[in-house]
Amino acid sequence: MNTDPDAGPTRRPAAAGDGRSTNPLDAPGSISTHGHEPHTGAISHRLNALRAAVLGANDGIVSTAGLVVGVAGATAERQPVMLAGVAGLVAGAVSMALGEYVSVSSQRDSERALVAKEERELREQPDAELEELIGLYEAKGLSRETATAVATELTQEDPLRAHLEAELGIDPDEFASPTVAAISSAASFVAGGLLPVVAILLAPIAIRVPVTFVIVLVALAITGALGARMGGAPALRAALRVTIGGALGLALTYGIGSLFGTQVG
Ligand SMILES: [Zn+2]
Repeated sequence: MNTDPDAGPTRRPAAAGDGRSTNPLDAPGSISTHGHEPHTGAISHRLNALRAAVLGANDGIVSTAGLVVGVAGATAERQPVMLAGVAGLVAGAVSMALGEYVSVSSQRDSERALVAKEERELREQPDAELEELIGLYEAKGLSRETATAVATELTQEDPLRAHLEAELGIDPDEFASPTVAAISSAASFVAGGLLPVVAILLAPIAIRVPVTFVIVLVALAITGALGARMGGAPALRAALRVTIGGALGLALTYGIGSLFGTQVG
């Protein structure tokens, strides 16, 4: 990260507040951890949020499509299909929001507890904490002197931030909001789930199931590939996997729906 032409071995760490680049370990000639940590920093946080949205849309497509295709297998009417679609969208959105709220809340609670513990330790035993930080940097491969210099300087700047980053991998500026996570998860589910509902309601009844199949499988291939891309995985394999899985799921629910339809009706 040394694009600064003035950067040299005597470069002082940049001003606090611009994330990882303040890390003196990035100075030339010392060990840089940058290349091996693709999951830190603001950009990858945003990428993770985007990826969560894509996966939420994927969930919405698969489960709502299964629902409406299953009901379409049982009845030739339009109304029950629409009811099933709307009920599926609402139920899915609620369950996604709740699940996300609970999981992000408990993650945040445990991170807050760790921060409070670290604050107390820094207040009650600052010397032991400095020693601990030096040990962490020595364990990363620095010499005793360099580790001491790094730990001392980071402690002078912001001891809590230094410990949270080196010891726990927590960025105190990056606490996730359970409400935001819940809303975006529900919204992405609905966005994905609307696709099969609209497709099956708008298509002519005689061909509504095959039309929905095709649209859903194309959409799944796209979200599968996008999600994999953002997660750094091979796109083609993920797209194939999610498309084949989706096709099997739809065929299964349609088959079960048809079976029920002929037995009941
Ligand atoms: Zn500590």
